[in-house]
Amino acid sequence: MAGRLVSETLTKLSQMGDVTLHEPAGDSPQAERVRRARKQEFNFSDCIANLQTPSGPKPVLKTMMTTACERNCHYCVFRAGRAKTKRVTFQPDEMATTFDTLERAGKVDGLFLSSGIIKGSVTTQDKIIDTADIIRNRQGYRGYIHLKIMPGIEYDQLYRSMQLADRISVNLEAPTSARLAALAPKKVFIEELVQMLQWAQQIRRDRQNERLASSVTQFVIGAVGDTDLELLSMSAKLYSQAKLARVYYSAFSPVPGTPFEGLPATEAIREFRLYQSSFLLRDYKWDVEELPFLSHGNLRADVDPKQAWADVHLIHQPVEIMRAEREQLLRVPGIGPVGADAIIRNRRRGALSELLHLRQIGIRRPDRLAKYILLNGKQPAYQRRLF
Ligand code: SF4
Repeated sequence: MAGRLVSETLTKLSQMGDVTLHEPAGDSPQAERVRRARKQEFNFSDCIANLQTPSGPKPVLKTMMTTACERNCHYCVFRAGRAKTKRVTFQPDEMATTFDTLERAGKVDGLFLSSGIIKGSVTTQDKIIDTADIIRNRQGYRGYIHLKIMPGIEYDQLYRSMQLADRISVNLEAPTSARLAALAPKKVFIEELVQMLQWAQQIRRDRQNERLASSVTQFVIGAVGDTDLELLSMSAKLYSQAKLARVYYSAFSPVPGTPFEGLPATEAIREFRLYQSSFLLRDYKWDVEELPFLSHGNLRADVDPKQAWADVHLIHQPVEIMRAEREQLLRVPGIGPVGADAIIRNRRRGALSELLHLRQIGIRRPDRLAKYILLNGKQPAYQRRLF
């Protein structure tokens, strides 16, 4: 009986089609992207994504209240009027029961809940909130919940969503008003989207004793001429002013039956370089001006941005490993926060004078960083790559 219930539940979810394939929800979006690219056909197991969440890897139910939508974002599989999209709608009770069934059966431990917009953002967000409320307060679920925030909802709805969820996402989609107008003509950049992220930070600031969701956003990359400089400038502002936990970059991929179906897909390497740069802003506290943009505003695709910076700035001024401040160590390609801390800890105990010593304290492939460093005043010998 229970098995039949789970199977029926998954069958209805599977009618939603490829909802799970279009939106990263965990902390390893690049891995999700690879799975998405390999996907030939959708089946019900795709509703459950193994995601790296803030509290570790979990099988998360990734779904929508409805796949119907009254808006017409040019890139979106769910846009109004797209004939090929199957429209499936859940009511809050039904979605909450669906989640409960799968959670009790041990199939999922976590929920990522999004929605198309029907009867306006406020009505749609109420359904998302009602669902999460039932799951938290009637069913008593305490695990991971990630809720999408519809554009332009009310302040109190945002606050309630943040009380119920561990994470909320407000997807800006584009880095400026003009780019958003080209991508999603019915969305309003500042009032409907940026303001939601500002409010979320204000709510967290005003209620520091409450357990409230962190915020993330997502950009669609490369469909409307957006540059890496625009995307990373906006990312830097969001990290510093709206205290975002994460910015996601989703390389544009044309969907048949949409106005953008004839546009070329954005290469995955661009998305990857944006993630690398975004971590330099968020975790290494770089200023956006320090990133090595080319004259057209994009990053080089063929080289890691940290290495491109080091090739200009460190080749003639290598970092002395025995004396450098932590911030200077973090500028060296191949040295991250863990490596920098290991160097500082170990150099107090004795000289790090050979690449082998760096390897012994956990720096992987120290030959890669040899040209950017000095060890006890000397540049370490390393094998230059001939090809
Ligand atoms: S509002 Fe969301 S679901 Fe609707 S068309 Fe735009 S991106 Fe798609």
